[in-house]
Amino acid sequence: MGKVLRLKPMIGRELANSEEWVVVGENSFPFVVEKELAEQLMSGELNKSEINHEIIDFINDEKLLLSEGNQFISLVENNKLSFRIVQRGIFTLGVLSFVIVIISVFLLDIPTGNKLIYDGLSLPVNLVILVVFSTVTTFFHELMHYFFSQPMQTSKRVLHFHLLKGVASVEMSYIWAWSFFARLMAIFSGILLDLILLAILTVIQYISQNLFFELLRSVLWVRIIWQFQFQKSYDGFLLISILKDDLFFNENRKYQFYKWIGRFITLLLVVFWALPFIFAIIR
Ligand SMILES: [Zn+2]
Repeated sequence: MGKVLRLKPMIGRELANSEEWVVVGENSFPFVVEKELAEQLMSGELNKSEINHEIIDFINDEKLLLSEGNQFISLVENNKLSFRIVQRGIFTLGVLSFVIVIISVFLLDIPTGNKLIYDGLSLPVNLVILVVFSTVTTFFHELMHYFFSQPMQTSKRVLHFHLLKGVASVEMSYIWAWSFFARLMAIFSGILLDLILLAILTVIQYISQNLFFELLRSVLWVRIIWQFQFQKSYDGFLLISILKDDLFFNENRKYQFYKWIGRFITLLLVVFWALPFIFAIIR
């Protein structure tokens, strides 16, 4: 009998389209391993003689060994009824908002970068509104990620990490062990909120016929399209990784295809938003 290593609590599940499992502990990078090892990791005890060195090194590097006075939180997904209702409610509202936004392309327009400058305002006031609106909506976008990536038990420490580092941070990697819809909402909730806000502003503009709202809508259009620059690890990339259930999608051959779509989207942002915005300022 070799030495037994005691581990912090870890959670995991079998990956779709793969024999392998993903296992994560608090603040650790996810392990992608065979079922047998996954079960050992989740059991909380490892027989040192049966495990290869790489795994032991990884456990040490990720500080997953249990030691005296360790405090840890449960990373299990929140499946309280109230939370599930909010999850589904936001998802449904987001999908409805998407439909409204698509319809608005035909009834109103797509507010391109020139609309970021509104004639009814002086330039300084206009720019202040732009910055304030972008900052406030970005904060709420991040707050959505934070809210939907909270495990069953919450801790203040997790909040701190999330708001500072955003959704792609290691501290959130535990969502990989969650069910599909819980993972989807942790990643997609930011864009869903952007869509909901955009739909509300679109309806207000349509009813009031006030072109000031073009300015705010344009900001949100950029925010949403921005995420789909798949060559960067923004929400769009994470969304594809979740849909494919592939933690290493950036190493997948199919990623090349998405990268090209992403670069095309960058080009659209430059041509239809960045340049018209600059021209509207220097006009
Ligand atoms: Zn986001």
